[in-house]
Amino acid sequence: MDILVINCGSSSLKYQLINTETEEVMAKGICERVGVDGIFTYKNNDGVNMKKVPFDMPTHKEAAQHVIDTLTDPEIGVIKSLEEISAVGHRIVHGGDKFSEPVIINDEVLKEVDEVSELAPLHNPANIIGIRTCQELMPNTPQVGVFDTAFHQTMPPEAYMYALPYEYYEKYRVRRYGFHGTSHKFVSRRLAEVCGIPLETSKLIICHLGGGASVTAVYNGESIDTSMGLTPLEGLAMGTRSGDVDIGAVEFIAKKKGMDFPEIMNMLNKESGVLGLSGVSSDFRDLWNTRAEGNVRSGIALDMFCYRVLKYVGAYIAVMNGVDAIAFTAGIGENDEGVREEVIRNLSYMGMFLDGDANQARYGKEVCITTPESRIPAWVIPTDEELEIARETAELVG
Ligand code: ADP
Repeated sequence: MDILVINCGSSSLKYQLINTETEEVMAKGICERVGVDGIFTYKNNDGVNMKKVPFDMPTHKEAAQHVIDTLTDPEIGVIKSLEEISAVGHRIVHGGDKFSEPVIINDEVLKEVDEVSELAPLHNPANIIGIRTCQELMPNTPQVGVFDTAFHQTMPPEAYMYALPYEYYEKYRVRRYGFHGTSHKFVSRRLAEVCGIPLETSKLIICHLGGGASVTAVYNGESIDTSMGLTPLEGLAMGTRSGDVDIGAVEFIAKKKGMDFPEIMNMLNKESGVLGLSGVSSDFRDLWNTRAEGNVRSGIALDMFCYRVLKYVGAYIAVMNGVDAIAFTAGIGENDEGVREEVIRNLSYMGMFLDGDANQARYGKEVCITTPESRIPAWVIPTDEELEIARETAELVG
């Protein structure tokens, strides 16, 4: 089956056309600066590689139309007509507690996705635009929603509740939802596979460390706790997000600076994390470089990032009463040997020892980074959220 995977942001539309039998990416790219001017990128498996070509895209509709026109173009396209696309799989960030599985999108589903938009105001409205646009352009093709939150719907109440008055949960569904679920699911399955551990009786910890970062405890194949919360702000210190912080400190700062809630949220989401700590960058390459030049704050940012990953890993080992394997994934997890080394260094107590050579792994490389003597292995597993969305979409419509 050829599945078109769409990940729609407020001013972007990422796409991949995937053949789910061979799991080959036939074509992929991104429409950027939608609503501003429009930049188009397209790469296919015949060697066509168009990088950042200006193309007028006043709305997502023109963007999606251009993607379809390019995919079906007689010269550079990879399919003859739209009919060859069996279904469109949409990444949807927040499914609240309504969606624990992918769903075929109809009016009822769209209404429910719209209702949880309050919980992800930056993401869900853009996802809905992507769905509506594809419905309009491809009215006979099934549209499927795959939710970032779905994998975490198996968490027990003690993991997902906040210790707040219960009425906020009852009335407003205030609870932990967790994110990066598609990635945590994909990587946990692969980790069990490469380690030869049966998923149904396994204790795995997945560290998805990218611009946004989260750690998940996967027990017998199911998410039982994860570090992100009601929104993707909680947990680890991230590129620009604070992660866990005492709300008392936030009130203190708000009073001192005379900031209102939107300003506070902007500060916590965009000006904090390793960027806020270092004052240098949210990119880990810059942090290592400036630390090497003697920048103390870059050092604190890096140490703190690793420390928090380690703390969550430790907590999830306790929660699962052990662990069989750990995986690192996403931009930092797949590329930053320094971060991996820092985390693994403190897990020697349970028989996990770093293999320094294997740990030099970079993008796209799936590799075990612990020594053969290690009792518990750690792996780098490149994530592939698009492939997971394509697989789940094909399974549902197939
Ligand atoms: P997003 O969450 O935005 O999708 P990614 O998973 O692509 O992010 O991760 C992006 C981050 O990965 C960058 O901000 C950077 O810090 C980190 N990164 C990418 N390449 C490297 C590298 N070679 N070494 C260290 N960090 C890297």
